[in-house]
Amino acid sequence: MRIGFGYDSHVFDAGRPLRLGGVTIPDAPGLRGHSDADVLIHALVDALYGAAALGDIGSHFPDSDPRWANADSTLFLRTAVADVRAAGYEVGNVDATVICERPKLRPHIDAIRARLAEELGVSVSSVSVKAKTNEGMDAVGEGKGIAVHCVTLLLP
Ligand code: MG
Repeated sequence: MRIGFGYDSHVFDAGRPLRLGGVTIPDAPGLRGHSDADVLIHALVDALYGAAALGDIGSHFPDSDPRWANADSTLFLRTAVADVRAAGYEVGNVDATVICERPKLRPHIDAIRARLAEELGVSVSSVSVKAKTNEGMDAVGEGKGIAVHCVTLLLP
């Protein structure tokens, strides 16, 4: 078994749609980034690559590459899953914590879990997505953006 950890954060950009875990969240500011800035998928991709010691999202999908401008991050996730499979692993489970003051994510959690489970090839019960605020502390607590911590287990 291999464990992996991923972290990512992005600042809000009201001019873009908010993509989180491959789901578009309506009526919420989006995030600034080269791709669609799906901060949850980025943290998950780093956790997957980290578990297999295959580098990080920046080494596979550099933000200097025009191919990834406004890219759908589910493409990154699909590639990362294929890469860890090629290295001899299957995804066991995922546990992620999304930190932001807004929007309220609870109504969207199950849709996000289902979307991620589909891409990961696991059951929804193997994908945990938790949401919390930063209690007003630091930049995330001031509502400047969203941060995500994610762990994953890979099985042989
Ligand atoms: Mg990112």
